[in-house]
Amino acid sequence: MKYGVNEHGYYGDFGGAYIPEMLYPNVEELRQQYVQILNDPGFKAEFEQLLRDYVGRPSPLYPAKRYSEKYGANIFFKREDLNHTGSHKINNAIGQILLARRLGKKRIIAETGAGQHGVATATVCALMGIECVVYMGEVDMERQAPNVSRMKMLGAKVVPATSGSKTLKDATNEAMRDWINNPVDTHYIIGSVVGPYPYPEMVAQFQSIISQETKKQLLEHTGNELPQYVMACVGGGSNAMGMFYHFLDDESVKLIAVEAAGQGVESGHSAATTFLGREGVLHGSRTILMQTDDGQVVEPYSISAGLDYPGIGPQHAHLYKVHRAQYVSITDDEALQAGLLCSQLEGIIPAIETAHALAYLEKMTFKKDDNVVICISGRGDKDLSTYIKYFGY
Ligand SMILES: *Cc1c(COP(=O)(O)O)cnc(C)c1O
Repeated sequence: MKYGVNEHGYYGDFGGAYIPEMLYPNVEELRQQYVQILNDPGFKAEFEQLLRDYVGRPSPLYPAKRYSEKYGANIFFKREDLNHTGSHKINNAIGQILLARRLGKKRIIAETGAGQHGVATATVCALMGIECVVYMGEVDMERQAPNVSRMKMLGAKVVPATSGSKTLKDATNEAMRDWINNPVDTHYIIGSVVGPYPYPEMVAQFQSIISQETKKQLLEHTGNELPQYVMACVGGGSNAMGMFYHFLDDESVKLIAVEAAGQGVESGHSAATTFLGREGVLHGSRTILMQTDDGQVVEPYSISAGLDYPGIGPQHAHLYKVHRAQYVSITDDEALQAGLLCSQLEGIIPAIETAHALAYLEKMTFKKDDNVVICISGRGDKDLSTYIKYFGY
């Protein structure tokens, strides 16, 4: 694949495994085994069976009638919000727990921002009867309290990260520290297409089910498996990578990735990584990240916990640099308005993360016959209190 990973774990200039010496054995074990495990017919069969019977796949491709009328194109929603646990994150969690079992691991750790990845991980650990520890920023624990309760009910231990901005990047640091201290029995389930190689590649492959299904469903709906546009929001970039994956080599398909501008890209309160960032190393891979002139990571800001991350996965950095995908951004206000619009036009309350992708429709112009697919990455239940506060219901 032209935009895929090379044999050294790089996507163009980005990727690799920039890790402390003490993590080397853990990452090397994964690197040596993941291709064989993922391609094993037994693994594939178990993955597919759980996606079908437990997650509820395939997720529908819904032709959004009133959105299509409003924006003057055929707009389709890829409904990852209907998955068990309410977002795309479960696809990756299922894949990685099956991998961890085949590696003989007895304990799972994870980091989480919005809590969706933590819930997905706690869920698959309950499913498999494996011990689970989830690191979460203290600020995120507050704004995503229902997800904290869910993880606890599922039997996971939730550990607050109290350094820095007390959000996702700090939780990721804590999880890395845990993994260094527990290299033999513990598998670290990373929740997005970030981290040292092979994580970005593994997570992208697990999430690629999204575009694999979409092609088949589009063919049924429109007679053509290729749309004009494919859109998704980007935090670390896993729902976007899953949504783009099987369209990457179809150069006629325009890929649009929507980042969180927060209070505005120039406001100092933003998470618009490609606009504000430069090349550097974050959480084990070479990518694009928000940093000061002397290389300190800049605290990101977004109203949506899932997009509040100072980097993007290395494959996204590559797609950005070679202009295969277009990276844009949407403010908090624009996203919240789009969340309200989607609720009232389609009867679907989206996650605020997802609402960023929906909001970008306002800035596009379409031809009448354009087919547009938007990844509805998650449902808005977890965000109700934020919506309510903003709109004053
Ligand atoms: C976590 C999350 C995101 C952002 O993560 P990606 O890895 O960029 O997909 C987006 N939407 C929802 C609903 C999420 O839970």
